[in-house]
Amino acid sequence: MRNRVAVLNVMIDVITMKEAVRKVEQFIDLQKPHLVVTPNAEMIMMANEDKYLSQIINNADLVVPDGAGVVWAAHYNGDVMPERVAGYDLVQNLLAAAAMQKYRIYMLGGAPGIVDKARLAAEERYPGVQIVGTHHGFFTKSDESEIVSSIKVCRPDILLVALGVPRQEKWLSEYSGQLEVPVAIGVGGTFDVMAGIVRRAPLWMQNAKLEWLYRLISEPKRAIRMLALPRFVMRVIASKKKMVC
Ligand code: UDP
Repeated sequence: MRNRVAVLNVMIDVITMKEAVRKVEQFIDLQKPHLVVTPNAEMIMMANEDKYLSQIINNADLVVPDGAGVVWAAHYNGDVMPERVAGYDLVQNLLAAAAMQKYRIYMLGGAPGIVDKARLAAEERYPGVQIVGTHHGFFTKSDESEIVSSIKVCRPDILLVALGVPRQEKWLSEYSGQLEVPVAIGVGGTFDVMAGIVRRAPLWMQNAKLEWLYRLISEPKRAIRMLALPRFVMRVIASKKKMVC
């Protein structure tokens, strides 16, 4: 039985980083397709406006709390949520496990050139890791069947897909039946960080739950998108008030 809690109608697994890695390893052992989703506050707000996205998340096999806001919301609602399981950190832990267990990884997404830089970074950081294929994420519908075939030929255990939310989740939902990959994960801007073109907030800011502020300062073009954060906080507070009344 899965232990999940609802954050604005999106079901999130109550899980630690260590347990999430273990779960992914179990999915690989099962050799059947599994989808892992990593929602933050922005994605949850999007899912509240997009029924298809919310169905994909709520039917996914593992949904980890990517953002500090999600952990805050669960706690505010009186639910247990042991820790933040950031998508970027989950990928790093899985790459480390992959190097040890010889899991095969395919990286799809990011700008042309960036995914290959991310691959080099992974190979340097996790010696022995098998990245069995890469493809950038700027393709059209007509390229998709070729990409799906190339992923199948490479037989990855884990498929990392960085096409941005919600495209990556919808792409995976459309193709997961054909891909024959045990674990597929939407990983957003992970390859950009691995390639060194985007920096993550320093650890003290992550610990102070200020990663959103760092992103706002370092990527001001995200400001409009990030308006979802205060709206998320207000909606969580309002929905709890409604429950209490
Ligand atoms: N991207 C892509 N194809 C597209 C649009 C975006 O491969 O058509 C990539 C983009 O280069 C970036 C990632 O998707 O590497 C999205 O990163 P972002 O930080 O915006 O992720 P999100 O916040 O949506 O999770």
